[in-house]
Amino acid sequence: MTTFAQPGIAVTPHVNGPLPGPRSAELLARQEAQESNARTYPRSLPIAVEEASGSFIRDVDGNVFIDFLAGAGVLSLGHNHPELVDVVVDQLGKFTHGLDFPTPAKREFIDAQLSMLAPGLRDRMKIHFCGPTGANAVDAAIKLCKIATGRGDVVSLQGGFHGSSAAAMALTGLVEQKSPVPNGMPGVHFFPFSYCSRCPVGLKPETCSTNCVTYMENALADSNGGVPLPAAVILELVQGEGGVVPATLDFVQRVRALTKELGIPLIVDEVQTGCGRTGTWFAFEQYGIEPDVIVASKALSGIGLPVAVIFYDKSLDQWAPGAHTGTFRGNQLAFAAGAAAVRVIRRDDVLGNVRRRSEQVADLLAPLEANPWVREVRGRGLMWGIELADPGSGKPAGTLARAVQRRALSRGLILECGGRDDCVVRMLPPLNVSPEVIEIACRLILETIDEQVAQLPATDVPDSRGTITGNGQTRVPA
Ligand code: PMP
Repeated sequence: MTTFAQPGIAVTPHVNGPLPGPRSAELLARQEAQESNARTYPRSLPIAVEEASGSFIRDVDGNVFIDFLAGAGVLSLGHNHPELVDVVVDQLGKFTHGLDFPTPAKREFIDAQLSMLAPGLRDRMKIHFCGPTGANAVDAAIKLCKIATGRGDVVSLQGGFHGSSAAAMALTGLVEQKSPVPNGMPGVHFFPFSYCSRCPVGLKPETCSTNCVTYMENALADSNGGVPLPAAVILELVQGEGGVVPATLDFVQRVRALTKELGIPLIVDEVQTGCGRTGTWFAFEQYGIEPDVIVASKALSGIGLPVAVIFYDKSLDQWAPGAHTGTFRGNQLAFAAGAAAVRVIRRDDVLGNVRRRSEQVADLLAPLEANPWVREVRGRGLMWGIELADPGSGKPAGTLARAVQRRALSRGLILECGGRDDCVVRMLPPLNVSPEVIEIACRLILETIDEQVAQLPATDVPDSRGTITGNGQTRVPA
């Protein structure tokens, strides 16, 4: 049982000295000696974690942080939600590992998950339990669509992230991760995403007609376009690792119309956006579309126990027995927690909290718009990003974003970076986060960004009218 952040006890972040503290430094050094060079988070967030509760983490040196990484978006109800702990402990005493046998815990989980889909959609969907990661579920979705259509090519979107397995990585935009690995999955075609603040086709949102999707429409319909009819189009509705970039409504609706017209299954990767993160259970609900395949994982259990699934249209269910096996597809603890998480989310109107806290974040972060290094503040629900860019050149300001992340940590706030060159400072709080914690975190972000920008070497930058003003005076239009 944690000794801090109990319900009813006000907790504030506090950091006692330079980071990493001595005990964290010792564990980090040991980690560096023993663990893979591919380790990630402790490089930018150099702490060793002792315990956690709700929206807070305590490191082994006694420093307390607000955790707005939340297990990379996994902990929808925060760390160790007491009701989820209870059901997990109860299930632990019964049994834990169930392969893909039907079980009462699984049945409850399936019923709870299906109950979150609209009736028409729910009735036409089947569910497959995948290996316990988002990437494994992405792999499953691609295999399903390839088998059902008999086609081999797949369309993905620039800036998208779908995981680090060989196939999911092939669908991912992140060139740095995939280029050192030769012979990736062939037949992946990337098309531009509606990333309006950095328009991939060089237009301005005020005057474009979502030309990014026009490009895809033309290419797929063009008999000389070079792209065979694909087995699937896969997309995130809000690109998470890509820098919190919500797709525009027109973009998504036209992708849906195009894929329907051409008979291409549409896979929505809701690994990060799913389970309430954007204010609706799934993000696609906000776009007025129904996908053919939904990939879900991260927050399904609500407490960080691994589970991953795909929901898909029954017409696609053409794979053979054993077509996508895996030893860890029957995590009864995750099932019990996931069913309880749905009950808590409904009872406590957690989705309502996501929407209210989202408005609060928008209001609190609004002053950032005046900072010339802030290119855009954007978010959906409790998935927020602050894109930093050099006001003169417009280049992604990754170094600044990482400095903000590091400084915020030293003041007691855990944030993530993403997007091009990591130039987007990201927030993924638990979905039941309180207004008080949001207030503290957002104030800290404002102060930290102002402080870090003020420390940049002064340069003269052209303003939007082509004149020269001192650093800090103007904002380059997106
Ligand atoms: N898809 C999306 C949209 C993701 O954000 C992630 C992980 N960040 C994945 C897939 C891969 O999930 P996992 O790390 O569990 O394999």
